[in-house]
Amino acid sequence: MPTSVDLVLLVAAHNEEAALPLLHLRLLSVAEGLGPGVRVLYVDDGSRDGTWALLEGFSRDEPGRVGVLRLSRNFGKELALTAGLDHVPPGAAVVVLDADGQDPPELVPAMVARWRAGAEVVFGRRISRVGESWVKRASAAAFYRVINALSDTPIPRDTGDFRLLGPRAMAALRGLRERQRFMKGLFAWVGFRSEAFDYERAPRLAGNSKFNYWRLWNLALEGITGFSTVPLRVATYVGLASALLAFLAGLAIIVRTLLWGDPVAGWPSMMAVISFLGGLQLMALGVIGEYLGRLYLEAKQRPLYVVDEAHLPGA
Ligand code: UDP
Ligand code: MG
Repeated sequence: MPTSVDLVLLVAAHNEEAALPLLHLRLLSVAEGLGPGVRVLYVDDGSRDGTWALLEGFSRDEPGRVGVLRLSRNFGKELALTAGLDHVPPGAAVVVLDADGQDPPELVPAMVARWRAGAEVVFGRRISRVGESWVKRASAAAFYRVINALSDTPIPRDTGDFRLLGPRAMAALRGLRERQRFMKGLFAWVGFRSEAFDYERAPRLAGNSKFNYWRLWNLALEGITGFSTVPLRVATYVGLASALLAFLAGLAIIVRTLLWGDPVAGWPSMMAVISFLGGLQLMALGVIGEYLGRLYLEAKQRPLYVVDEAHLPGA
């Protein structure tokens, strides 16, 4: 009789052929140490290198323990993780790890121990950001400050996707089917008893990071628009404030004209005011556009991802 699955180690990979062989051995030994109910699940997020061939090999070697899932193209890490989470058997807990070894698998048993002791969510928190440029550190700090000021869901800082989710948190997460996904926010949104787990983030085993500044900026926009409508409200207040200023300026002009007459002047200041207000209006439209665009994507009701091929344990 097959043992029931109680824990799945989930890894999303995009062009990680250089790092995966090393990681796989470490994952297998951790899985073995944790007992018979542990599975490894890989999601190939539209890789163009040898990643899929490697993963297929892994599942052929250990069909009962290793599952693999291939998306039809590159959907991005957030959706690749969603695809993986959807294929975790109900009732199992999951640990999400990066494919590049930056989240050390050897820490999983300690996370599992916290879960068994009662925590439903155990999230990894980086205690150092060595090896990251000051630009990345400063922008990360600014991002957490902004999003936590704007969002009703507090998002713990310096956390990545490295975390353990218990079966109840998993069930709640499965109910969130939004298309524009910011996983860190969704993980935080489901709540439950959550504990931070401090760890040193290791350097990449091999290959290069897939997240450049432009992708990070877009992820940050996704996070802010997904978890806050404050930017929409800001336009209202900026508008109110500038209307008040304009009213006061109008009063001043009337008084000045009554007292000293009306020598035609002030073209430069008028241009300055017009272009300033034009800029404000475009900016407010842009903010509305960001939300409208996301509403449009949501309204189309497309599936979140498309699975090309899957080899799952017990299937
Ligand atoms: N990843 C993915 N799809 C993508 C980009 C990245 O599944 O489109 C995976 C990647 O293979 C890795 C994880 O997401 O397992 C984190 O990516 P990366 O190491 O490039 O990001 P960083 O650690 O630099 O933030
Ligand atoms: Mg990485």
